[in-house]
Amino acid sequence: MQAFQFSKATTVDAAIGEGAPTGVKFVAGGTTLVDLMKLNVERPTTVIDINSLPLDKIEPTSEGGLKIGAMVRNSDLAHDPAVQQHYTVLSQALLSGASPQLRNMATTGGNLLQRTRCYYFRDTAYPCNKRKPGSGCSAIDGFHRIHAILGTSEHCIATNPSDMAVAMMALEATVHIKGAKGDRAVPLSEFYLVPGSTPERENVLAPGELITHVTLPKLPESARSYYLKRRDRASYEFALASAAVVATTQGNRLRHLRVALGGVGTKPWRSMEAEHALTGREATEKNFHAAAEAALRGAKPLHDNAFKVELAKRTLVRALKVVTQPA
Ligand code: SF4
Repeated sequence: MQAFQFSKATTVDAAIGEGAPTGVKFVAGGTTLVDLMKLNVERPTTVIDINSLPLDKIEPTSEGGLKIGAMVRNSDLAHDPAVQQHYTVLSQALLSGASPQLRNMATTGGNLLQRTRCYYFRDTAYPCNKRKPGSGCSAIDGFHRIHAILGTSEHCIATNPSDMAVAMMALEATVHIKGAKGDRAVPLSEFYLVPGSTPERENVLAPGELITHVTLPKLPESARSYYLKRRDRASYEFALASAAVVATTQGNRLRHLRVALGGVGTKPWRSMEAEHALTGREATEKNFHAAAEAALRGAKPLHDNAFKVELAKRTLVRALKVVTQPA
C-alpha cells in the first residue's frame, strides 16, 4: 500500500474544500476503498475520513418520500421500518448484499460508488482501461463469466456490483451532491456513465464533490416491490443477475411499473423496454416473457457470460410473477 496523508473532516464544507485536489479520496465505511488500496489499485495521496459528518439520518420528505443521508449504514437502512414497509425492494436488495459485518460498515454514499469486481481491474499485473486508460481490456479476450452484457463497449465490459443501486434505480431515486460550485440533484438514472471510450469515468461526480443524501419519491399507495438476486452461492456473493421491480396493478392490469436489472449491466440497469412492454398490459406469464425479451434485446454477451441472457430473463419473469401475485 502506498503511504498517504490522513485527515478527518467534521463539516461537509471542510470535506469539500479538502477533497478537490487530485489524489484525494473520501473514506466512510472503507469496504471498497481500503481493499483496493491494499491491492495498489487505488493509490490516494490523501484520505479524508468523513465518518463524523452529520449525514446519518433517515427522514420523511415533505412530499411523502424518504431522505436517506449518505452516511446511513446499509444495515440501518435495510432495517428501517419505513424502508421495510414502503420500499421493500430496497431492504431486500441491501440484505442480499455482502455480509452483516460489511453492511454494518458500508454506507449509502459508498455503496453507490463501489467499484467493479472485475478480476483484472483488481490485479495490477493485468492491463485494464478502467485502472489505466489506454492500456487495454484483459477481460474481453480473457475470462469474463461475471462481466456485463448490457452497456458494454470495446474498452470495458465490467459489471456494476451494487444491489442497493439496482433497487434505487427502480425506485427512481435522486442523488444529492454538494461541491465547491454549489448543490445539485441528479436522478440516479443519470448519475452513472456507461464505459464508452472512458471507462475510468463511472459517474458524474466532479473532483471534491460529495454525495450528501439520496431521496426516494413517494410510491403509489398500492405499489408492491420485490428484489430477486441470482448468484453462485446463497450469501456473501455478487449477483450474476438480479431484478428489482416496483409495480401497481389495477385488476390484473399493470399500471405503475419500474424495472431495473443488476449483475448484467455496466451500470445499474433501468429497463425502460420492459416497462414499456408491460405498462397497461395484463399481468400474464406470456406478457412477462415478452417484457424480459425486450429487456435483454440489446445484450451483447461474450463466450463465458452468454448464460446471463437467459438467466436475466428468467430472473425478471420470476420477479414479475412474485410482485403481481395476489396478496
Ligand atoms: Fe478493466 Fe473493464 Fe476490462 Fe475489467 S472489463 S479489465 S475493468 S477495462
